[in-house]
Amino acid sequence: MVRIDKLVIVGVGLIGGSFALALKATGAVGRVIGVGRSARSIARALELKVIDAAGALDAATLSDAGLVLLAVPVGQMPAVMRSLSLLLGERTIVTDAGSTKQDVVDMARRELRGALPRFVPGHPIAGTEHSGPESGFATLFDGRWCILTPPPGTDEKAVETLVRFWQACGSQVEVMEAAHHDKTLAITSHLPHLIAYTIVGTVADLEEATQSEVIKFSASGFRDFTRIAASDPVMWRDVFLNNREAVLEMLGRFAEDLTALQRAIRWGEGDKLEALFTRTRAIRRGIIDAKQA
Ligand code: NAP
Repeated sequence: MVRIDKLVIVGVGLIGGSFALALKATGAVGRVIGVGRSARSIARALELKVIDAAGALDAATLSDAGLVLLAVPVGQMPAVMRSLSLLLGERTIVTDAGSTKQDVVDMARRELRGALPRFVPGHPIAGTEHSGPESGFATLFDGRWCILTPPPGTDEKAVETLVRFWQACGSQVEVMEAAHHDKTLAITSHLPHLIAYTIVGTVADLEEATQSEVIKFSASGFRDFTRIAASDPVMWRDVFLNNREAVLEMLGRFAEDLTALQRAIRWGEGDKLEALFTRTRAIRRGIIDAKQA
């Protein structure tokens, strides 16, 4: 089994906390050191035993770490990478959990200097709408996919080690190019979030009387969008700013399909509507069969 003595988590929130808890549960790590921004979050992570001790972006915390996970919003990554680049040990593997990947690869190229070959970019395809150290739990990644996007030149041993850590968390791992990841996630994750933010935003702008009826009768569909639209505003701002091209491309296709649907409704083309709804139902079945529901 894969094992390291010291794991450092930079950003002890939903993802960083869950990674720490999952690896602690399997005995894959000795000590977990958390590096945070606010004293409150670090105190909470200590209290909940998500981490064993608090650290900082300094040599004492980083030089003997076996693995460092960057689990901060993507917009925070360059500053964090810059701060730790010269402090890492020669064998320390670095990874991240950012939801966008080409930009993170580019940031690492600019900021990580000598540690670059041991940086393995990653993205666990698992999450909830909650954030902060209280929201982490050990089984978050169980049965979920984790995508790694190591660019050419990445140390193969580092990639292999990281695959084994994610497997220890219960994940299945797929390796792909960062640009391919960003296109795929634009449609599977980023566009659905944008649609949810839009529809819930539309309701937020309605007059109060209508709004209260929407909330009262929300179980008819609206409720499911509100869960996604409750996701962390800072994290999602950074996702859209950092995966702009792929999101705009998918949004263009979506807008065309929406217009076609609008036309079908206007002209009473029931057969078109039914054909589409039948195809979409099959996709839901596929997700259930793949145990990703
Ligand atoms: P989160 O729960 O909000 O946790 C982020 C943590 O990072 C917070 O505790 C925050 O500290 C800390 N932080 C922010 N800036 C920092 C800095 N400069 N230095 C040190 N700590 C800092 O967010 P999350 O959902 O875990 O997301 C973390 C990363 O995982 C993001 O890159 C996101 O794109 C990615 N991701 C998220 C999901 C998801 O569903 N949420 C899924 C896959 C990947 P404070 O509490 O003090 O502000």
